Amino acid sequence: MSQAATAPTTAGSPPALLQVRALTVEFPTARGVVHAVDGASFDVAHDEIVALVGESGCGKSATALAILRLIAAPGRITGGEILFDGCDLLALPEAAMRVVRGRHIGMVFQEPMSSLNPVQRIGRQVAEPLLQHRKADAAGALRRAVDLLRGVNVPSPEARWRDYPHQFSGGMCQRAMIAMAMACGPRLLLADEPTTALDVTVQALVLELLQSKVREHRTGLLLITHNLGVVARYADRVHVMYAGRIVESASGDDLYSRPQHPYTIGLLASVPRLDRALDQRLQPIDGQPFDPLHPPRGCAFHPRCPAALARCRDEAPPRVAPRTRHGVACWLHPVREHDR
Ligand code: SF4
Repeated sequence: MSQAATAPTTAGSPPALLQVRALTVEFPTARGVVHAVDGASFDVAHDEIVALVGESGCGKSATALAILRLIAAPGRITGGEILFDGCDLLALPEAAMRVVRGRHIGMVFQEPMSSLNPVQRIGRQVAEPLLQHRKADAAGALRRAVDLLRGVNVPSPEARWRDYPHQFSGGMCQRAMIAMAMACGPRLLLADEPTTALDVTVQALVLELLQSKVREHRTGLLLITHNLGVVARYADRVHVMYAGRIVESASGDDLYSRPQHPYTIGLLASVPRLDRALDQRLQPIDGQPFDPLHPPRGCAFHPRCPAALARCRDEAPPRVAPRTRHGVACWLHPVREHDR
């Protein structure tokens, strides 16, 4: 695990590579406004793997898209701050933001098969960011693309760069996407459910590859996933999201061994764990998933929470402060000053 993960995150440490503060994202709809992200704050340091985890619709992908300023209209960022290497991304002109995307922040999306251009050779696609952002010549960019494909363990890259996406397996396509995302040496990588469409063995290979690449280049990685099993093994720091809010923040180890928020405890009970007996049944979380158009008053998790108190129905607990060692947004866990 990186030093960034094991060192306590205190107010005196240097600013992180990425600082997200009080981010809010809304989507107006005909039936009302969806508050997709509601005051999320977190950091990603150099050489740190940070995971945003939660069920579909919890706001984790909207957070990643907001960082890239790719929220599709009529959705919009309505508040907060996103600082990347000290630069306020929300204040950048769109032309400068295009340079940030791809050159300084790399992206790996789910469904690699549909993210790649089906009628363009793989090598040409991996070379594209170099042509666009590094002003490389075509031959040099292609040579570099072959090296990048070799670096992500594509076999015989000298020949396979000529392949089209349909000639690659799903895992190979995702490796090509990682090569493409790393082509310009980005300082931060965003990976949104990068293993969703892959089988379990290939998932592990892709995640190990991502991990080794970010360690090798001291890149920060923001990993968006619904899979807590992924988090336990690969993330230095984890933020669990529910209904647009971060409800628990901790190191990967701490979250896995000492979950405190009732939602995190429920999530962990609902997925297979290596440290649990094989015959132990998985426990789904009771109740209906959160309805974003009709959020409950108070704590959004209270209709499903087995430990809800009377006040939970009316009062939302305070948000988790950024840089908290182990923060929990729950009335059962008052904020401890030494955690700030
Ligand atoms: Fe449950 Fe209340 Fe904590 Fe929300 S604040 S998770 S309802 S105990």
